[in-house]
This record gives sequence, C-alpha cells and structure tokens, in this order.
Amino acid sequence: MTGLPPPTLRLRLDRDALAENWRTLDAMSGAARAGAAVKANCYGLGVDDCVPVLRDAGCRDFFVAHWGEVPDVIAHVPAEQVAVLHGPGNFEEAQYARASGAVPVIDSLRQAKLWSETGGGPCHVMIDTGINRLGISPQEIGDPVLASLDIQVLMSHLACADEDSTKNAQQLDAFREAIAKLPHRETSLANSAGIALGEEFHLDLTRPGLALYGGVPSPALEGRIAQVAYPEAQVIQTRRLRAGDTVGYNATFTASEDMRVGVVSLGYADGILRAWGGAHFAYGETWLPILGKVSMDMIVIDLTAAPELQEGDWVELPYHLPDAARQTSLSQYELLTVLGHRFNRAA
Ligand SMILES: *Cc1c(COP(=O)(O)O)cnc(C)c1O
Repeated sequence: MTGLPPPTLRLRLDRDALAENWRTLDAMSGAARAGAAVKANCYGLGVDDCVPVLRDAGCRDFFVAHWGEVPDVIAHVPAEQVAVLHGPGNFEEAQYARASGAVPVIDSLRQAKLWSETGGGPCHVMIDTGINRLGISPQEIGDPVLASLDIQVLMSHLACADEDSTKNAQQLDAFREAIAKLPHRETSLANSAGIALGEEFHLDLTRPGLALYGGVPSPALEGRIAQVAYPEAQVIQTRRLRAGDTVGYNATFTASEDMRVGVVSLGYADGILRAWGGAHFAYGETWLPILGKVSMDMIVIDLTAAPELQEGDWVELPYHLPDAARQTSLSQYELLTVLGHRFNRAA
C-alpha cells in the first residue's frame, strides 16, 4: 500500500522562538525559575513538538490540567516534574498519581483527605486567593488535614494579572498570609502576565503558558515575545468568477467584476472560526482577502493581487496573536487552543 499523502494544512512551529520565549520569561522571573503550562496539548501546539524544546531550553516544572494529559508529557520529562492542576478527584486518580509519579495539586480539603488517606506523599497545594475556581480557601487553612500533607509547592493563581488591578496586590497579600501558615518547600503565583507584574509576584517558581507560545498578555511583554505558531494551507483550487457571481454559504460575497479566487484547505473544523470573515491570508508580502463565509473545510480568497499563485501553492494565515485577537475578537488563548487535529504539526 502506498503511504498516506501529507495533509494540505500545516502548523509551522518556530521552535527557536519557543525556546527563546521560555528563556526570556525565565530571565524576567528574576531569582525565581520559570516552569511551563503545557496543558491542553501545549495550548493546541502539540506536546510532542513543544515539551522537548522547553525541556532542552532548561525547563524543569511542567503543568497539565488533567490526568489524561500525563502520559504524553512524561514520555519526554521525568514524572516528578509534572504537576496536575485538577488534582486527585477520586480514588482512581489518586492511584494513577502514585503509579505514574506525577505530582497532584491538591485543590480542596476533600482532595487533601483523599490524598492523605490513600497514602499521602509529595504534593502541591493550590490556595484560592480570590479567583474562586479551584483551591483551598484562606479560611480553611487551619484544617488539620493540611498539616498532614508533604507540600512541595504552595500555589495560587491571579485573576487579573493582565490588568492593572488592585486585585493583584490583594491576592498577593492573601497568598503571603497562607505562605506564613502552611509548611511548604516553595511558592508559586505568577502566570505569563503575572511575571510582568514585578519581583514580588515571582516568589520561587513562575508558571507561564500563553507567552511561551507567542501570546502577549501585557504591555510589558510587547516586543519581547516572538510568534511561535504559523498556520499555513494549500490553495487546492483556483477559479474565475464573473461579475455577479457569489461565494460560499448564504452568498454573502458578490463579485462586482470578473476576478480569480482560490479555495484554501482550511476551515472552522480546523479552528479557523467564522470570526475570521473579513480578514486576509498572506502570500509572501501580498495580502489576499477572505471572501464570504468560512466553511467547515474551506475558505475562499481573492487572488487578484497574486496572479502568479497556482493550485498547490501555500498561503499563511497571519497569526501574530495580539493582532489576530483584535481581528477576530477571540482571546489569544482561544486562538491557540482551537487549532484543530487536521494540521500537520510535524511540518
Ligand atoms: C493555565 C495556567 C497557567 C498559565 O497561565 P497563562 O496565562 O497561560 O500564562 C498558570 N497557572 C495555572 C494554575 C493555570 O491554570
């Protein structure tokens, strides 16, 4: 049997930019060391492609959300360097934590009790200082079950790190009170944007995610973080429109004169949502506007500016995340994590 032909869409990763972003964030973390949030398949970019790069750059602390994300990460790094943010929610998860060696983040008194009763061992603890998602509340810190834990990293998470908000200082104060009360080895508070808030937020370990992958969540990171992900796709057909012809579902674009268009092998099933309508692709330096609605597997573009473009040529969707977020009204996080499974990520 002949081999499967390569996909007509690819996610080009700039691995040097990924490594450099980690080094930049590690340097900006001052005396603290930077870890890496690698949850959601490295924010959609691919664990197998990104984790080795982060490891080789020097990263030793990796964070995933789910237990199901552990096997792919520990294929590349030692299990004790991997922390699971959702923690052990039931007996099977606690068992799996021990069997795999990945470190649970204890998020409630119930999880603390479960971890302790199933044998205890090294763990991290999340304190909720005001985001009101997962974490132990400051009022619960005196509970004796916490005294029985072997806490490696005491953590909290900022709600408004990407804003100049008084909530940041309030959360830092609340976290400092928890730090004073609970025995632990190390402390960690800052995500990407938190690193830019300054030295007092760095503590021992920072946990950037978005900025590793090219996101710019705060003005202090502008110009210091490089784009990592470049979605590209083939033009699989070119065609000529006559004046009055329409393009795509609901015929929302009508040609005012004869023109040549191309069908790009990319659609909302690949995470290029309809919010991209009205944007453009790039062919070298040339901009090629999107015409009509984005379909599941196709996007039609105007080829007027690129008469030399042929079927089989590749075009790029401009994916500098701050610009793409303004263009689409999607968040930089969403723009990364929606990227679909059909992309050739090995490219
Ligand atoms: C996702 C996550 C991070 C990383 O946040 P970014 O904003 O992507 O840098 C850090 N800590 C926790 C607890 C997280 O859930």
